[in-house]
Amino acid sequence: MRPLSYTQIALYQTCPLQYRLQYIDGLKPKDKWYFSFGKTLHICAEYFFKVKVPFPPSLEDLLDYYEKKWLAEGYSSAEEEAKYRVYGRDILTRFWQIHHADFRMPLAVEKLFYIDIEGVKLRGFIDRVDKLSSGGIAIVDYKSSRELFTQDNLEKNLQLTLYQLAVEQMWSLPVDRLTLYHLRSNTPCSCGPRSKIQLDNARRLVVGVAEGIAQQQFPALENQYCPCDFAEHCPYFRQQYEEVKPELQHALSELNVADTVERYVSLQAQIKELKLELEEIKQTVIDFCQVRELNRVFSRKHAITYKLVEKIGFNPDEVRMLLEPEGLWDRVLSLDSSKLKQLAADETVAEEFRQKLTALKQVISTSPRLWVRRLTEEE
Ligand code: SF4
Repeated sequence: MRPLSYTQIALYQTCPLQYRLQYIDGLKPKDKWYFSFGKTLHICAEYFFKVKVPFPPSLEDLLDYYEKKWLAEGYSSAEEEAKYRVYGRDILTRFWQIHHADFRMPLAVEKLFYIDIEGVKLRGFIDRVDKLSSGGIAIVDYKSSRELFTQDNLEKNLQLTLYQLAVEQMWSLPVDRLTLYHLRSNTPCSCGPRSKIQLDNARRLVVGVAEGIAQQQFPALENQYCPCDFAEHCPYFRQQYEEVKPELQHALSELNVADTVERYVSLQAQIKELKLELEEIKQTVIDFCQVRELNRVFSRKHAITYKLVEKIGFNPDEVRMLLEPEGLWDRVLSLDSSKLKQLAADETVAEEFRQKLTALKQVISTSPRLWVRRLTEEE
């Protein structure tokens, strides 16, 4: 298996099918302006710090380089591109002012790494690695996203966790600080290093993703970024792109799919209304029987019987006291899924145990279900 990168791992987690389409089938995602913009800023930040002597390039030099390296792909118009070009210059000017003043040569810039995690090869580039006066290492990853990072983003960022694993494996030096550098506002957002438990969890995650890929598990997983650039290959969206195929016109004709969908939604709405009405009428009959102390009421054609039905159950403590001494308790125990879910999320229970419990989850049975959602105008 080829080495995995953080980007691939993150994509597999988001949607395994999208991962397959992009990295195995080789489909190319569309150009996006925000990727071009972010990449240009990254290249310039690298240029600023990747110097051989302890003097960074001048501002003029940096901005010249920016103009030469500007990536124009993905912008919707020349105006939009020009607007972001100016914005990028502002960001880099501020970047230069901040880092020129206290410039220190980093330990590494755009550091390529290959590491082995339980037989899985992981590769990547770390934007910047600094040596702190404490002797420890600081890892910096530049981000060009719009929003600033919350503490939670920082603490859970898998990329930083994997980079810490890489640096500790490559240099055997302790990592003291992890930083996501928000380029748009020139704000470094930092936190301390990951704990051993967090690093172990990340290792398990990498191994789990590699296993999923090796076992060719590529289900489509709907997520907040859907539809992706490959929607015509996705079972959730493909039907919108398909041509009518005569061999498929059997039980659900391709020609009447739209009518069938509308009929399904309309019937569902009717059922909902009828259920509400039924509940109201049921309560009216019950009230009537209770007030009049009747157990049966009649129309010309039907009779409805009213009864209080008891649901019989056992007191668990009493049953246990009786069965346990006889060695029969295990025979009546059954799993309560909702309680198991609660246990797996309970932070007072040891993390390792919760991981093991979560790993026991598996598909017990499958049954077809339908969900209805109203489409927006654009869709
Ligand atoms: S549209 Fe959504 S679910 Fe379908 S492949 Fe793309 S990301 Fe996955």
